[in-house]
Amino acid sequence: MLKKTLAAFILACSLPLQAQDFSGVQIESVRISDNFYVLYGAGGNIGVFAGEDGLIMIDSQYAALSERITDAIERISGDPIKFIINTHWHSDHTGGNANFSADGAVIVAHEYVKRRMSMEVFLPLYNNRTMPSPIGALPTVTFMQNISFHSGNETLTAIHVPNAHTDTDAFVHFGNANIIHMGDLLWTGSYPRIDAQHGGGSVEGVIKGLEQALELADGDTQFISGHGAIPEKGTAYVENYRAMLRTISNRVSNMIAEGMSQQQIIAARPTADFDADFLGDNAYIDAEMFTRIVYISLTQ
Ligand SMILES: [Zn+2]
Repeated sequence: MLKKTLAAFILACSLPLQAQDFSGVQIESVRISDNFYVLYGAGGNIGVFAGEDGLIMIDSQYAALSERITDAIERISGDPIKFIINTHWHSDHTGGNANFSADGAVIVAHEYVKRRMSMEVFLPLYNNRTMPSPIGALPTVTFMQNISFHSGNETLTAIHVPNAHTDTDAFVHFGNANIIHMGDLLWTGSYPRIDAQHGGGSVEGVIKGLEQALELADGDTQFISGHGAIPEKGTAYVENYRAMLRTISNRVSNMIAEGMSQQQIIAARPTADFDADFLGDNAYIDAEMFTRIVYISLTQ
């Protein structure tokens, strides 16, 4: 199972977009609260907030899925999508932007989402090259710290986290519904992919982002991860996830201080006691890659 997911992931990273096969992908819609839904398909989990005055969508998955996503959203509400908030620049979260903006949605994201999407990005860690996005896919409203959307009794606030999964991240907090969509600051049942080495990301930044989100949370907060199922007991999951990152990062840091090489640290398996929880069927990267990410985060 893991091998299959990894193979699909590596394929997704190394082939041009048109070579990916989305023909079998179905969009599953899960109702989280009165007016908030999560859509699963391929790529980052989409959030759909159905306000009284239109829809706000969080992330847009791949362009090839836009029609299927539109069908799923039309079953939720006949209202137009007014805004799309991108949690970060990765194409599995922004690939549908151009299609939805052509239909009238305003794309909103951190200023650096626009910057990263406008240029060619090469990440040596994943041997992955992303070409600039078309103009129609770029955010037309950008922010540096945070931005709020007000609709009825709900306020959605996108809050920037510097140098975390990427250098473009924001999570989205729902003040009334007590929901936080974390984007790729949180993965369910998987170690996180982090754009260390030229991508501006770091394990330390992700830990800080989780702490920032936990400050806004209570025991009942519903956390949405960027990839994988909605974690049951969200706040406890996020606390555990933060502890996992902290523990592994400390171990690797100590090994570096002892003079161990990257290969020696990988061989020492600093993730071993967490692998049962984070190398499940949903895992996007293996323990070796995650150890590499931690090592690079600490030495870059
Ligand atoms: Zn991502």
